[in-house]
Amino acid sequence: MALYHALRCYGELAQPRELLALSEFANCECEGAPKDGRCEHQLQRTAAELGFRLEHWVSDSPADLYTTLRRFLTDRAPVLVCVEHGAHWVCAVRATSRNVWIADSSRDQEEVLQRWTWRELAVALAYGLPARFDLYPLMVE
Ligand SMILES: [Zn+2]
Repeated sequence: MALYHALRCYGELAQPRELLALSEFANCECEGAPKDGRCEHQLQRTAAELGFRLEHWVSDSPADLYTTLRRFLTDRAPVLVCVEHGAHWVCAVRATSRNVWIADSSRDQEEVLQRWTWRELAVALAYGLPARFDLYPLMVE
């Protein structure tokens, strides 16, 4: 799961099994749960259990998305994002002016780290009309 990759950026090697159990326990009534089963609130509670804080930032334009996401990654905070119209969580771990590296657990082991262009990211992230871009940086509590 995406949170696993974000925690790894801090050297926190939680077992995916443990994370699943924690997030299952943090059940939530909201309708925002993506297909892979965890809404932002469950992820926030799971992160808190482990001594981290999952923040929520909304950018309202691709330009703002670029600036905000780059700032977090430069500060070495991994950022969870929900792609495919809220269906699936992935984790942004690194960026340059051209590309963003995305850890995607749904990929095979050797393909987990994907290189996306900023445009591809903006398209995958855009939610609603007018489009908004939700970012969930993981911080140490
Ligand atoms: Zn929820």
